[in-house]
Amino acid sequence: MYAKRTHNHSLDRTIMPDHLQISAILEDATRRLATVSDSARLDAELLLARAIDMPRSYLFAHPDEALDELAAARFDAALERRLAGEPMAYITGVREFWSLELMVTPATLVPRPETELLVDLALREIPRHADSDVLDLGTGSGAIALAIAKERPLSRVTATDISAEALEVARQNARQLEIPNIEFIAGDWTQPVRERTFNVIVSNPPYVCSGDDALDALHCEPRSALTAGEDGLDAIRILARDCGALLKPGGVLLIEHGAEQRDGVAATLQEHGWSDIACHTD
Ligand code: GLN
Repeated sequence: MYAKRTHNHSLDRTIMPDHLQISAILEDATRRLATVSDSARLDAELLLARAIDMPRSYLFAHPDEALDELAAARFDAALERRLAGEPMAYITGVREFWSLELMVTPATLVPRPETELLVDLALREIPRHADSDVLDLGTGSGAIALAIAKERPLSRVTATDISAEALEVARQNARQLEIPNIEFIAGDWTQPVRERTFNVIVSNPPYVCSGDDALDALHCEPRSALTAGEDGLDAIRILARDCGALLKPGGVLLIEHGAEQRDGVAATLQEHGWSDIACHTD
């Protein structure tokens, strides 16, 4: 028997399986992400919004809509990275700091909200209506330096980092944010600015102890930006030794450090002749 098969157009329409619906995808991803993230639902939403190239609000307005295969594949790839412990900032490529949207890559530490306290303290030392020279040592993505430069347009901010790759990210951030009063110089701590002096020096140096268990969760970030010897104070010792010569009279040095390092940092600074040492807790 011969039967001619006629083309049935209804078969051309792809029937979306339920598991590709936005609401189901979010539920499933949230459940899985809960093992690695304390913001699992938010992470899932941000990754999904990115995979479909829509604002997050779109997800709430269209819970029953199904993803096309390409978007689903994009989402799966991002989800796998997050499940492997990669920070959201590296997956999305951006992180907000001091209301500035910064580009970040694995060449830089992900800026932390706690570090906004360092910016806040630095701004109290930098006049709004007069010029001043500010130095940020180990700038990474440029977060601290850019926030200060933005808030104090009359200041001249210099930012150093030993990593050329990190500085490239910082430079791009300055360009993107159109912040002109900032310059970047590659080099080891104060080495590239030895001939100059500053009113304010800031730094968020590496300060985690090399054997700290917390490092496991930070395995995607550059180790050199996180650890500084057994007691975590190696970088701070360098700053305490070298920054005094770079300060103008009445200048201040502001350093971020770990919660348990208060006494160690104070002792290190005293050894190098620093006075009026104060500790602020975030
Ligand atoms: N605050 C970071 C952390 O413990 C460390 C940042 C640093 O070493 N500067 O996750």
